[in-house]
Amino acid sequence: MKVLKFGGTSVGSAERMKKVAELIVAKKNIIVVLSAMSGTTNSLVEFANCLHQKKSDVATDLLLGLHEKYKQTVEELFSKDAFKQTADEMLSSHFNYLKQYTLDSFTLFEEKAVLAQGELLSTALFQLYLEEIGHTSALLPALNFMRIDKEEEPDHFYIKENLKRELDRQPGINCFITQGFICRNVYGEIDNLKRGGSDYTASIIGVAAQADEVQIWTDIDGMHNNDPRIVDKTSPIEHLSFDEAAELAYFGAKILHPSSIRPAKEANIPVRLKSTLQPEAEGTLITADLSGEGIKAIAAKSGITAVKIKSGRMLLAYGFLRKVFEIFESYKTPIDMITTSEVAVSVTIDDTTHLEKIVAELNEYGNVEVDHDQSIVCIVGDFTSPKTGIANQVFEALTETPIRMISYGGSNHNISILINSKDTKSALQALHNYLF
Ligand code: ASP
Ligand code: MG
Repeated sequence: MKVLKFGGTSVGSAERMKKVAELIVAKKNIIVVLSAMSGTTNSLVEFANCLHQKKSDVATDLLLGLHEKYKQTVEELFSKDAFKQTADEMLSSHFNYLKQYTLDSFTLFEEKAVLAQGELLSTALFQLYLEEIGHTSALLPALNFMRIDKEEEPDHFYIKENLKRELDRQPGINCFITQGFICRNVYGEIDNLKRGGSDYTASIIGVAAQADEVQIWTDIDGMHNNDPRIVDKTSPIEHLSFDEAAELAYFGAKILHPSSIRPAKEANIPVRLKSTLQPEAEGTLITADLSGEGIKAIAAKSGITAVKIKSGRMLLAYGFLRKVFEIFESYKTPIDMITTSEVAVSVTIDDTTHLEKIVAELNEYGNVEVDHDQSIVCIVGDFTSPKTGIANQVFEALTETPIRMISYGGSNHNISILINSKDTKSALQALHNYLF
């Protein structure tokens, strides 16, 4: 069994859906996980926001526009009238469901049900299209097996048992189509795995079905050794370890949702990143093995805020760092990078929702400085064997770049450097030219 996940752009139009169908019809024993068509989840978020703000006219217009777009997709996707009609009826039932919220009150729980429509629509249309072209497949309703617990973590035991039941219910089928992103919470209500969560769905299913491989299909032929949107002539990385991939996914390489590595790593299931635009390209394979030494890739994450706390009291004191961390913890704000000196500590965060309150509390422990518009440049590879010169190479490359923080030695796979965001492009290019 293999799990194949296709993202929003891969199913973003009738034409692209047909391409995905071409790719999967030759494969046996697969579970296909689909995102919503690109743009749909954003539109549904906007729709929900309008409803919260009681702008039901705007919401209605939005819905009409989206419905039109889907009608157009149906028109282009299907060639037989009977299938067009079935698809149109299906659209009507989803859009009528959404429409009722423009007339009625709207709660947070209902918002989740609204957001779920994107994946429900894409999978229903796609599966119907497979029927039209005569390929046997079946829908696998994610809401019947995908579940998160009280901590909003996947309930792996529940998922495994219920997925098995759903699969057994349809014997003889070797191509299942299911929704990414959506799930139920511990109360059985419709919920989701957060934005971009379809990758996470794929790896959770991969673990539950004990798949041989999880494939994440996007528009790019794997993780690249640098950010292809910023730097010219980057190339795909053939192989990464789970740890290397996790660092890269977190620090910028937008191609894979960072949470999706953990389940795959724990169950030791290979993850392969493939491109729907170049299906013959190898892409990137992510496994437990380490391969190749030294630097493999560079990535950058922007929108970072640095917070420095300087305190005379830190000198020779214990418990200071704990107090600082507790303040961030009490506001559920994750810290990415940390550097310390004897009298100060600097940390970085990317969620600034509670920054003001955090700073107010930190002020009790020392002098606080905040720098916005920072970027973390992250150099990833295997630095396990005591090799010399890795840090040296990085700094050689960055002689022109003012550096705010450096973090090295936290893991064997990462050197992180904090710089001003305006220097990101030149820093990435300089590292690229020097290291590769
Ligand atoms: N459709 C969801 C989103 O746009 C999930 C996903 O695409 O992975 O966030
Ligand atoms: Mg995605």
